[in-house]
Amino acid sequence: MTLFDKMLAGEIPCDKVYEDDDILAFNDINPQAPVHVLVIPKHKVARFDGLPEQDAETVGRLFQGAARVARQLGIQENGYRVIVNNGRDAQQTVEYIHLHLLAGRPLKWPPG
Ligand code: AMP
Repeated sequence: MTLFDKMLAGEIPCDKVYEDDDILAFNDINPQAPVHVLVIPKHKVARFDGLPEQDAETVGRLFQGAARVARQLGIQENGYRVIVNNGRDAQQTVEYIHLHLLAGRPLKWPPG
């Protein structure tokens, strides 16, 4: 069980910003920007790599959910970045797929 499985199960707390039937969004514990929210699907996928095996609805709802969270946070006007770290070189540390939603300052490109 990963940290995010435990959050979904209510076994450990999270700083929730949004939840619906399909996704959970919460503030990152180590924010890299004024807004740093993680968005996870309730239907578990370990890695971005696993998305081809998922139904299109699960995939779509994760991304639609992230866009909804961004709107709710009011960051769509100035803009934001959505990132997925997949695997070791990308520094994925939690084996439960999550979208990083970053905003609140001008973001540098490319990411390090
Ligand atoms: P990644 O490196 O893409 O796997 O991202 C994992 C993210 O989870 C990191 O940005 C961590 O700061 C974040 N994280 C780790 N523990 C917690 C926690 N208890 N609550 C919220 N975010 C966490």
